[in-house]
Amino acid sequence: MRYSAFRVIKEALTGHKGWKPAWRDPVPAAQYDIVVVGGGGHGLATAHYLAKEFGQARVAVIEKGWIGGGNVGRNTTIIRSNYLLDGNEPFYEFSLKLWENLEQDLNYNAMVSQRGILNLIHSDGQRDAFTRRGNAMILNGADADILSTEDIKKRYPFLNTDDARFPIKGGLAQHRGGTVRHDAVAWGYARSADSHGVDIIQNCEVTGFRIEDGVCKGVETTRGFIGAKKVGCAVAGNSSRLMALANMRLPMESHVLQAFVSEGLKPVLPGVITFGAGHFYCSQSDKGGLVFGGDLDGYNSYAQRGNLPAVEDVCEGAMAIFPMLGRARLLRMWGGIMDMSMDGSPIIDKTHIDGLYFNGGWCYGGFKATPASGFAFAHLLAKDEPHPTATAYRFDRFEKGRMIDEKGMGNQPNLH
Ligand SMILES: Cc1cc2nc3c(=O)[nH]c(=O)nc-3n(C[C@H](O)[C@H](O)[C@H](O)COP(=O)(O)OP(=O)(O)OC[C@H]3O[C@@H](n4cnc5c(N)ncnc54)[C@H](O)[C@@H]3O)c2cc1C
Repeated sequence: MRYSAFRVIKEALTGHKGWKPAWRDPVPAAQYDIVVVGGGGHGLATAHYLAKEFGQARVAVIEKGWIGGGNVGRNTTIIRSNYLLDGNEPFYEFSLKLWENLEQDLNYNAMVSQRGILNLIHSDGQRDAFTRRGNAMILNGADADILSTEDIKKRYPFLNTDDARFPIKGGLAQHRGGTVRHDAVAWGYARSADSHGVDIIQNCEVTGFRIEDGVCKGVETTRGFIGAKKVGCAVAGNSSRLMALANMRLPMESHVLQAFVSEGLKPVLPGVITFGAGHFYCSQSDKGGLVFGGDLDGYNSYAQRGNLPAVEDVCEGAMAIFPMLGRARLLRMWGGIMDMSMDGSPIIDKTHIDGLYFNGGWCYGGFKATPASGFAFAHLLAKDEPHPTATAYRFDRFEKGRMIDEKGMGNQPNLH
């Protein structure tokens, strides 16, 4: 069923009796060509592109809970392509281009809003670093704009540019960055994948891999064995646990990241703003809530909830640049599990087991990567070759010392 203004009017006039479920609830088949484990944004996007772009007809997504229950429905919804390194920037710019056409591609309103992102600059050294990053972005076909303090005063008059503890000395803006309604991304990809014949199987946990003579033949699940010629794993924060079932130990740790939403306010923030002297980022949802977050909780965990010291740290970051936020009431907060890799960059690669493929290590920046990650993983699964924008995201970069360490933090996952 196509969604359109005409359809909305027709259904309104006929008692809304014609709407169909957005996706089916199929019984798993015994065998598929490709099984994607994980019904998050990346798994569902992979299935959509496998079916739509690469002509794969027998595909299933296996999800242990409900689609959208993981990080795809828990993040702070920011999209951008403001990276520095060659391994990353072309990939994230490819993703931003896919976001720009996503709603037409999916025939679904995902509320893609290119309201812009501003990274605040607080020191001369930071201005140099951000100017370098802006130049790298432009060289890779992205947009970047260095703003002066005067520009910022005009555009964001509520920021404290007078006597803040960390004075605002300018900013790096990416006007094509912004936000997307996160759950709608899961629902839009699921609906489109389903309409191209993909089976989306919820409440079905993968509990093991059937591996014979070094070849993966399928997955053991809570609903029985499901055979597959190829299995692609995209389970984000649960990557280490899942791949341990295939006796793999990943260069990755799982950490908690929290998100926060204030009570609904009248429009006040024109776009996404990030604090450069700490870790704090904030935008305003269309419902009016200020959506914000900061650093990881800092300890390894698989629990989807966080602790109070991180709340205090995030609120301190907020007060440093938005003293007005102190008057707003916090409505809700939650946690998600981050698959933090050793260099802060992801992996989209084959494993040493034939027929078993891996996608993960997205840290806390994987939402913006969803379209490109899905496209690149589908490309790898369908053609057995990495997508041109994802050639650096290989397992062997750790062995060969070709780290993609965007933050320059070294191999300490919780610092990326
Ligand atoms: C608080 C927070 C804020 C964030 N903010 C941003 C942001 O602003 N911008 C940004 O770019 N990124 C952000 N991120 C990161 C981003 O959300 C993640 O990197 C990305 O969503 C991960 O990919 P995914 O959507 O596929 O993960 P998920 O939605 O977590 O999908 C993985 C799925 O795998 C399933 N699964 C796990 N184990 C199994 C199994 N054994 N069998 C079957 N299924 C299984 C899980 O149930 C889950 O549904 C944020 C994350 C959090 C938690």
